[in-house]
Amino acid sequence: MTTSPDAHATLAIHGGRPVREGMLPYGRQWLTDADVEAVVEVLRSDWITTGPKVAEFEEAVAGLAGTRHAVAFSSGTAALHGAAFAAGLGPGDEAITTPLTFCATANAVLYQGATPVFADVSDDTLTIDPDQVRRRLTPHTKAILPVDYAGHPADLDPLLALAQRHGLVVIEDAAHALGARYRGRPVGCISHMTVFSFHPVKHLTTAEGGMVTTDNADLALRLRAFRSHGIASDPRVRQAEGQWYYEMTALGFNYRLTDVACALGLSQMPRLGANVARRREIAQRYGAELSGAPALTLPAVSADVEHAWHLYPVRVDASIDRAEVFRALRAEGLGVNVHYVPVHLHPYYRNRFGYRGGEFPVAEAAYGRLISLPMFHGMSDTDADDVIAAVRKVMAYFGGGRYGRP
Ligand SMILES: *Cc1c(COP(=O)(O)O)cnc(C)c1O
Repeated sequence: MTTSPDAHATLAIHGGRPVREGMLPYGRQWLTDADVEAVVEVLRSDWITTGPKVAEFEEAVAGLAGTRHAVAFSSGTAALHGAAFAAGLGPGDEAITTPLTFCATANAVLYQGATPVFADVSDDTLTIDPDQVRRRLTPHTKAILPVDYAGHPADLDPLLALAQRHGLVVIEDAAHALGARYRGRPVGCISHMTVFSFHPVKHLTTAEGGMVTTDNADLALRLRAFRSHGIASDPRVRQAEGQWYYEMTALGFNYRLTDVACALGLSQMPRLGANVARRREIAQRYGAELSGAPALTLPAVSADVEHAWHLYPVRVDASIDRAEVFRALRAEGLGVNVHYVPVHLHPYYRNRFGYRGGEFPVAEAAYGRLISLPMFHGMSDTDADDVIAAVRKVMAYFGGGRYGRP
């Protein structure tokens, strides 16, 4: 690799020519004119929120996940909150989750007045380690919130076995994993509740939006009430029946997703399979072309999963300054990112729970080395080639030249 001309080119941070002129983002949406039309059509209709498109979108996601129920929320975060509520989490309860996630996963537990307890991740897939979860169980544990990090399903079967033995609810944060499979089953129908996000960087977008899938009718009812003030009945049904009376039976929120947003989601549905396939294609290309790059570890994929590739997180060797590599890749025109600052290291969690760093060595070590390369289904082959060229160029310098590796 160091024999290719690229590998000897001057890095852009040193005044050399960057691989790309513009910045390739790490992720972005991909919308068509037909998607825009679908939205406009709803804007001209009778219902712009909580109308027929919400139910249609819920049915489509339930179909995809293979569940009986899907409940739409105004964001993935609101959906996580709804799931924490439906699971019955409250003050005095503990819920075990991974530190290597977006803070929303743990925050949802806090919203309910319960306590998030972190368990370290496995070093290969960076998903929560079931052995670590087992060690964190107490008589107060009520739920487990695994995260399908980067689109790689967490090791769900051992977690569900633990949950069954101890009477816990598994809330899977699958914000990264729409379209992934675990041991042949689609993500969405495995855990008691599965949460998806439709933020623009995710596989399918409603601008803001989220969904909880479940096979449990009681959980679905609780989720539906929670997203609309704790009111059990549907305004559309009330209107159709000529009814005015309704009851609020729990303290809920306005977490409704609009018909406008659902029309946008529905319109992308037929392309979801192709979008996930395109991400797999890009991941395969990265894997083939970067496996020999010096001082770089590529993401591991367990034999029993089909990855959804929301992210493509690589790890630079611990001996190399990640910040320098990050700056160098940005200078080459790659909109690289880092996923994630471990949740317990955020000032809010440090101040509230007394974390000082060092509690979760695997997640913390990974965090120090991680870089997310651009990964989205709208990327062209040229974009992917630029990523490969820039990573080879930068790693040849940091991992090969300076450290004397071949
Ligand atoms: C995106 C994301 C969320 C939150 O989703 P929003 O729709 O942005 O509220 C939660 N957890 C993870 C792991 C995410 O990546």
